[in-house]
Amino acid sequence: MFRRTLLAAMVAAGPALAQPTVVPDCAVAVALGSDLEADVTYRCRSPTSLTFLAGDRAGPFVAGLKVETANGLTEAHYRFDIAGFARAVDSTSLAVLRGKSALLGLGAWLLEPRGYDRTPVIDIRVATPPGMVFATGLPKVGDAWRLSGTPLRFAGFSVLGNVTYRELAVPAPGSLREGNGPQNGVLRLAILEGIGETGTADLLDWVARTAEAESHYWQGFTAERALLALVPTDTRRGVGFGRAESGGGVSVMVEVGRDVDRRLLFNDWVLVHELIHTGMPYIRGRGSWLMEGAATYVEPIIRARAGWKSEEEVWREWLDNMPHGVAGFSHGLSRTSGRDVYWSGAIFMLLADLGIRRESNGAKGLENCLRGILWNGLDGTQWTTVTDYAAACDRVTGTHAMSALVERRYDKAEAIDLDALWKELGVSLVGGRVALDDSAPSARWRKLIVPGVLPPRRIKLPWES
Ligand SMILES: [Zn+2]
Repeated sequence: MFRRTLLAAMVAAGPALAQPTVVPDCAVAVALGSDLEADVTYRCRSPTSLTFLAGDRAGPFVAGLKVETANGLTEAHYRFDIAGFARAVDSTSLAVLRGKSALLGLGAWLLEPRGYDRTPVIDIRVATPPGMVFATGLPKVGDAWRLSGTPLRFAGFSVLGNVTYRELAVPAPGSLREGNGPQNGVLRLAILEGIGETGTADLLDWVARTAEAESHYWQGFTAERALLALVPTDTRRGVGFGRAESGGGVSVMVEVGRDVDRRLLFNDWVLVHELIHTGMPYIRGRGSWLMEGAATYVEPIIRARAGWKSEEEVWREWLDNMPHGVAGFSHGLSRTSGRDVYWSGAIFMLLADLGIRRESNGAKGLENCLRGILWNGLDGTQWTTVTDYAAACDRVTGTHAMSALVERRYDKAEAIDLDALWKELGVSLVGGRVALDDSAPSARWRKLIVPGVLPPRRIKLPWES
């Protein structure tokens, strides 16, 4: 799943990367109380006066807002009842409270300074009571979390309070390429209150092994830094709903059942899927089929390459589910919506994967497209369009496969014949089992799709080691 509402403001703002020499426009100092009430002070430089407005939902939880401007400096001060807000909203994709810990969008409780003619750079410093934690997916510059080039409402999730927090060292994007030295990225893992000691250890282990599986596919992790928040839930066993935020602070929320069951964790697709989103830019306009299609299509491949499922199981999943995506092609991918985006997008990715392998004579595949684009800086902090993403894919694979498909399938309606595709690939169901026919016309490309061309790297499951 993926959340982002396109705002015209962002289109104008465009991407920007934090530079060490940047002087922030605003410094925000937060003192967090043990009751999760935040005392917030902004100091902003601006030639014009600034305003600070809380959204409708947050309004009742803001107290004592005072804004003073003098000599080009605006100072704003207020208190925000984070616990009250998270309890009232009670949605894992927006704001949620678990004991003395909360997950909520950074922009839900840090008010947007309005009055700048561009997106201001904001440095955020949070003082927490002993034993409490604050974390986001934003980069750290010295002791500050820096928001740059993105409005607060797109800054991703924040977690705070009594959170189990670990910074997992992960290989930086691209650092597992041959000839590259080791370079560390960081996966900030935060588990909200409500999981016992053994369950917590199992969750940490699951995240570490899943990050390793992602890193094998991407030759380095999906992001230089990201926040992953796990939220305990009573409504599900195993893994529940997940949500990724990109285009700013790269962050992911995944619901986990309170009674942790290792086998349910490793048999689930949600975490692998959400982490794929963190390796891709936010694709604005009508691009959710591309983002969801990539995450849906690549997820079983990553698990197969880790040795967690067989090649036949992957094809079985596609034989069973890709028919759900056929309708999306008969009206053009730009008009897909709702649940159609997942499997229409996945069929598109299978066609792109096949096209890249064919045009590169087997040297490259969809993984080279996704990785190459990430390594060139179009990462989870960035925004782009369908056509620009496809052009970037063509560049890094030395093919025209994705642009040609976008040209043919994005705005134009053209029915897809899945049965003909399976025949061409040599994939069929015989007596309820997947049969792979190596004499099919495109079998030589099909054979590369699930295992890829890198040496296999089995990642042991916890009960195997
Ligand atoms: Zn998704």
